[in-house]
Amino acid sequence: MSKTTVNEQNITCPLCKNNRGIITGKPEISTAAYQFIRHDYSVVQCANCGYYFVNPPIDFTGEEWQQLYNSSYFAEMTKWHQKQRIIDIQARFTKLKNYCTNDIKNFLDVGCGEGWGLIEAVKLGWNSYGIDISDNRVNEAKNGNINFTPGNLPDACYPDSFFDCIYMDSVLEHLIDPVSYLKEINRIMKRGGILYLGVPNEDSLFNNVKRILYRLKGDKISEKIKPFETPYHVGGFNQTSLPAAASKTDFKIVELRNFAAHFEFRKYTINSKNFWMHLFLLPVDILAILLRKEIYLEAYLKK
Ligand SMILES: [Zn+2]
Repeated sequence: MSKTTVNEQNITCPLCKNNRGIITGKPEISTAAYQFIRHDYSVVQCANCGYYFVNPPIDFTGEEWQQLYNSSYFAEMTKWHQKQRIIDIQARFTKLKNYCTNDIKNFLDVGCGEGWGLIEAVKLGWNSYGIDISDNRVNEAKNGNINFTPGNLPDACYPDSFFDCIYMDSVLEHLIDPVSYLKEINRIMKRGGILYLGVPNEDSLFNNVKRILYRLKGDKISEKIKPFETPYHVGGFNQTSLPAAASKTDFKIVELRNFAAHFEFRKYTINSKNFWMHLFLLPVDILAILLRKEIYLEAYLKK
């Protein structure tokens, strides 16, 4: 199947504003979304910065987004997954401390979810702030030392140069305009402060394998991003486009890393569809380590 170059007038890359792109296929549309969204969307890769996005651009109303983000978004975690997530957060926080010029006083978790990052920040003596569209915090993350704001970051109006450290894991790929978000984060960050960004790597070996499977089935579905299916990723990053997003702001990348939680099948309940799929794909996980094409990317950015 040859890749189609998109007509110059038709697209604008949300990251770099370039007008040329390559269609990688059609996005999958969930049954929930099928009734109220248009069906002519494509997944496009920008020919300049490599960012993946949906064309035509998504312009859902707040109500339509709410219909997509229902309670089914937060899947049940296994004990192994929960423990692993806390170990990952602790390792990232150690790096953030080392990279930050200032002693960390004010910490913000954007898209704080269940609040595990907020809890770990309190343990380190940081003033812990969290923001998320809806409050899904576990009870331990609801104590008096934690400041929580429901809603969107731009509406929170935090003061200029307030935070020493901002943590944003699995958020950027959900945003229609990631650059404006990064600019807002830059505004509220102190000079010398540090930002953590974690995103899926759309050019992972796992996605390449999916592309082969889709082609064998004869589907024209794109293996990149999932705009209308949980987890509703509307943009997709790789090792080129994540630095491209950072370059639109006053942040400098101090570390960019490709990684994965090895043996991902342990994240899922035994016998679930995902468990068997990831167990079956274990050789792909191992090969991805060798090829440095693992399924996540993380960046540490300094102001
Ligand atoms: Zn671009």
